[in-house]
Amino acid sequence: MVKEKDVKEKALELLSERGVTMDHLVELVQFLQQDYFPQLSVEDCIYNIDKVLNKREVQNTIITGIHLDLLAENNHLDEPLLSMVKRDEGLYGVDETMALSIINIYGSIGFTNYGYIDKVKPGILERLNDKSTGKVNTFLDDIVGAIAAAASSRLAHSKWGNQD
Ligand code: MG
Repeated sequence: MVKEKDVKEKALELLSERGVTMDHLVELVQFLQQDYFPQLSVEDCIYNIDKVLNKREVQNTIITGIHLDLLAENNHLDEPLLSMVKRDEGLYGVDETMALSIINIYGSIGFTNYGYIDKVKPGILERLNDKSTGKVNTFLDDIVGAIAAAASSRLAHSKWGNQD
């Protein structure tokens, strides 16, 4: 039987090993919310990001996505999957589909937030999308964008008095 605590620990460990910190996630949430809640505190952001990271479906997506990135980075996938994941091919799309399992949690504002952040690629998302580093972050960039989008949606719902 898998222990809940072990799953969360592993997900956070993988994010950190891939260079994604809480500061990066806070920066993305602030970016998404700056026009709506300019007074938003860092503590508020951390609180909502942590709520998202506590969800088992989010932890599972993080672990699965980062493992697929690592397998591709080390050439441990068969073709044609290897090339599709390595090159982050536009027609592949499974990375975005997996990110939806995170965005779905807090309803439709999540989609708008995710679409916007995925287009503008602020902060850490720009580095994760840099293909010249030799790192494969095909799944991770969508997962990080989705975590920030979900945390922003949660925040928006809670500001409107609609919490869970
Ligand atoms: Mg991607």
